Amino acid sequence: MYLLDTLFSKTPSKSSDSMTKPIYLDYAATTPMAQQAVEAMLHCLTLEGEFANPASLQHGFGERAEKIVEQARFQIAQILNCKANDLVFTSGATESNNLAIKGMALSHQKRGKHIVTSASEHKSVLDTCKYLESQGFTVSFLRPDAQGVFSLQDVLQALTDETILVSLMHVNNETGVIQELETIAQALQERGIFFHVDAAQSAGKLPIDLSKTPIDLLSLSAHKFYGAKGVGCLYVRNRKKTALAPLLHGGGQEFGLRPGTLPTHQIVAMAIAFKIAHQRMAADFQHCQRLEQILIAQLHQLDGVCFNGNPQQKLPNILNVSFENVGADALIIALRDEVAIASGSACNTGAMEASHVLRAMGIEGDRLYGAVRMSFGRYTTEAEIIQAGQRICAEVTRLRQLALE
Ligand SMILES: *Cc1c(COP(=O)(O)O)cnc(C)c1O
Repeated sequence: MYLLDTLFSKTPSKSSDSMTKPIYLDYAATTPMAQQAVEAMLHCLTLEGEFANPASLQHGFGERAEKIVEQARFQIAQILNCKANDLVFTSGATESNNLAIKGMALSHQKRGKHIVTSASEHKSVLDTCKYLESQGFTVSFLRPDAQGVFSLQDVLQALTDETILVSLMHVNNETGVIQELETIAQALQERGIFFHVDAAQSAGKLPIDLSKTPIDLLSLSAHKFYGAKGVGCLYVRNRKKTALAPLLHGGGQEFGLRPGTLPTHQIVAMAIAFKIAHQRMAADFQHCQRLEQILIAQLHQLDGVCFNGNPQQKLPNILNVSFENVGADALIIALRDEVAIASGSACNTGAMEASHVLRAMGIEGDRLYGAVRMSFGRYTTEAEIIQAGQRICAEVTRLRQLALE
């Protein structure tokens, strides 16, 4: 363990300079922040800037802080094409998912106690739904096809007269597979069933227009689009009419839906990061497409390589790959000082467990236990991808030879 103050001291550390810098291929777990977002954040921390409590409206300090929080809310709303007052700031997508699902379950249980979601959701959705099962709700966990996709038919067949909410993610965090939401959203709207979407992996990477797509609740997380960790938001369509029940009670902030002093610095940085991601959407996408092409071509030099998730319907920044006869944990550990890759999601806190997402897709055996996720982004260079690809190929070959000895 190192002490925080030595971490921030100016003396350069001995070890890192002589070694080549490790390559970060875990952008789906979190992204580094955009520099402009960091600068905006710093401006909201000290006496010279907008450090005040945005709820302290008795003085100018608080008023100015409130003003920039509201500007941030407005800016995010403009990009999503929704009303600013339908956005509730939270601590991230885990909290947004909890608030959306538990909040709707609590406030609409008189109408019915059935929820539909999928077996390939993020744990923050799965575990929330499992908790609700323990509280007397019934949950249907849809299974995606072998490529990770759901059809409108799958969703419709799961609905009952008791269904109040459907919760599905837009882009899967392990495979990058994109779920087409338009027709599902339309069909649910016609039936008067609320639709929640976890957009943590798609926000800033795919266009989302809430004026066109009838999504009722949408979860975002800033640290997946170059903002800071610990902040996100939940969109609640017609917030007043939807009557979402809060999970926390307190000072009345965020329309009473999420009390607690707002983290001005994180919120402002999130709005800036989101705007940059929106402006650079096409450029970032093309950049990732190019990196993905290079990496796929390199990995294809190996035998027994298998890509998981529908290649025609995925984001290019996430690549989920299984190597025949190579365990994911062995590969990740062997590469850990040079290339940072992951198996499944970061959320199972270090435990190397087989991916529930791939399992839900019907993937098993070697292909399941050998699956690794490589994810990259705006700051990943071609040179890094080439180097990482070479290292991965060499390590897979070495591990396979070891197994033969
Ligand atoms: C990262 C992630 C989350 C959790 O977001 P936090 O802000 O870290 O709580 C939820 N869903 C998906 C799809 C994610 O990728």
